Amino acid sequence: MLAYEEALERILAALPPPKPERIALGHALARVLAERVDAPLDLPPFDNSAMDGYAVRAADLTAAGPGKPVRLPLAGRIAAGGTFQGELSPGTAVRVFTGSPVPLGADAVVMQEQTRALPSGEVEIAEPIESGENLRRRGEDIQQGAVLLEAGDVLTPGKLSLLAASGVAELVAGGQPIVGILATGSELKEPGEVLRPGQIYESNRFGLAAMTHRIGVAPMVSPLVRDDLEATRQALTQALDRCDVLVTSGGVSVGEMDFVREAFTALGGELQYWKVAIKPGRPFVFGQRRGKFLFGLPGNPVSALVTFQLLVRPALLRWQGATNVSLPEYHGVLGEALSNPDKRRHFMRVKVDAEGNVRSAGLQASHALRSLAAANGLLDLAPGETLAAGAKVRVLRWD
Ligand code: AMP
Ligand code: MG
Repeated sequence: MLAYEEALERILAALPPPKPERIALGHALARVLAERVDAPLDLPPFDNSAMDGYAVRAADLTAAGPGKPVRLPLAGRIAAGGTFQGELSPGTAVRVFTGSPVPLGADAVVMQEQTRALPSGEVEIAEPIESGENLRRRGEDIQQGAVLLEAGDVLTPGKLSLLAASGVAELVAGGQPIVGILATGSELKEPGEVLRPGQIYESNRFGLAAMTHRIGVAPMVSPLVRDDLEATRQALTQALDRCDVLVTSGGVSVGEMDFVREAFTALGGELQYWKVAIKPGRPFVFGQRRGKFLFGLPGNPVSALVTFQLLVRPALLRWQGATNVSLPEYHGVLGEALSNPDKRRHFMRVKVDAEGNVRSAGLQASHALRSLAAANGLLDLAPGETLAAGAKVRVLRWD
């Protein structure tokens, strides 16, 4: 049996280096930056108002107080997007709005709610203000030339907003693999069709395709393949012609109806067959053929989806150059004792509630989908390990 980390290391080591390509910002969600991005400008790019109100010199308001308001004549009005010529003269104010550039000389903005506009064109202010109040200073968020994002960062909505705010319209990202998904099994029927005795609905392609979409890659899904060497060979040939990474489910065990390995070898592919020491998901095939990669996942639905998350997802991310390919983690506390009597490491399906209490998500067998659907985490339990209620744990995110 092969340790999980060893299997993952071998997979990552076999992948080709990322192929960077230039893409538009609007298409960059979930893509992986291939080059560091340095800030092309300061953010904010100029001093501006954080409020609707009046830009002033704070020194003009030191004498203001309840019952003795200071009146300042208005020297102008700056809408967001507008500008002001020259400097704010002492003893005057300028009407501003959120995002308006603040004129030179002004060092604070008095909120509109704390002022009274007079018919004379003056503004009356009954409170002093501290220099700098309600001002957003140029460069206080980001200074030009600072590192905005690092190579290997996965682009999230927040990172895309940051790039857009910095005026970045295009960026260089790691090329994405074309991913194919294929399921084998003569017992499988498409959801929506009528089941005959002995048949079950195919579910793996849906879960695997969804997980692929989750990391920003749109997979190509092949039709179902029956358990037959020639049919499997043909299906693999067609899929491998179209994709860089083919993910199959089923047909990798030791039974005489398991044809994926034989078919792939017959096509000239080189494969490694691993009994990865994890539960669920022991039989696992990793193959290569002319620069294309095969991930042969077990057919049991839970095993297929869990091995995808643990072994295929990292590969699809590293293909694109991602630095961090691990699943994100929750911190939690066991709400009940949990144990792994098995000799293999168990990635147990668990539920983490809003308070961080971790409990089993239900029946843990590798065909049991209910607990997979209910789970939002995988708890990594060592062989023979028992953890008591109250134990602090880290849970891999599964949601
Ligand atoms: P296999 O790995 O092909 O021996 O399949 C193991 C178990 O998983 C069997 O009970 C299969 O019926 C079931 N199975 C295999 N592929 C799928 C699939 N795509 N969807 C649902 N169940 C499957
Ligand atoms: Mg099968």
